[in-house]
Amino acid sequence: MGLAASANAIRDELRSRGQRWTPQRRLVLEVLDETKGHVTGSEIVELCRERDPDTTPSTVYRTLDVLEELGYVRHSHSATGREEFHVLSEEQHAHLQCTSCGRTLEIGMSEAATIAAPIRKRYGFEPDMGHMTIVGRCAECSARLSG
Ligand SMILES: [Zn+2]
Ligand SMILES: [Zn+2]
Ligand SMILES: [Zn+2]
Repeated sequence: MGLAASANAIRDELRSRGQRWTPQRRLVLEVLDETKGHVTGSEIVELCRERDPDTTPSTVYRTLDVLEELGYVRHSHSATGREEFHVLSEEQHAHLQCTSCGRTLEIGMSEAATIAAPIRKRYGFEPDMGHMTIVGRCAECSARLSG
């Protein structure tokens, strides 16, 4: 089920928290619903502005915060710390980013859990693998740079 289909539930949840449901918030929802994969906050602002030039970045970011609190979206950070948003109907994953070519690869949460396991065991610390990006060099760049 897409985000737009959850619009009524989201509206009710916001109202029960004393927050307003506005056309701008609905627009953010529609834009998110149509995105695939990763989308940055500024990309969402741009997409909203294409439909409603009056959209302000603060409205978009506040709406993203609220949707994340309610569990409909999640953010992660690219290697530069930039926030990227995912709609949570997508499969959860962790990110690998190559600093040489800039490509981002995704790994499934079961693979990410394998990486997290020794940290959990050694430090009792639960890494939030979907929240961060592991930076390094991809296989192709390694081959190119060593060849
Ligand atoms: Zn991702
Ligand atoms: Zn964060
Ligand atoms: Zn690379």
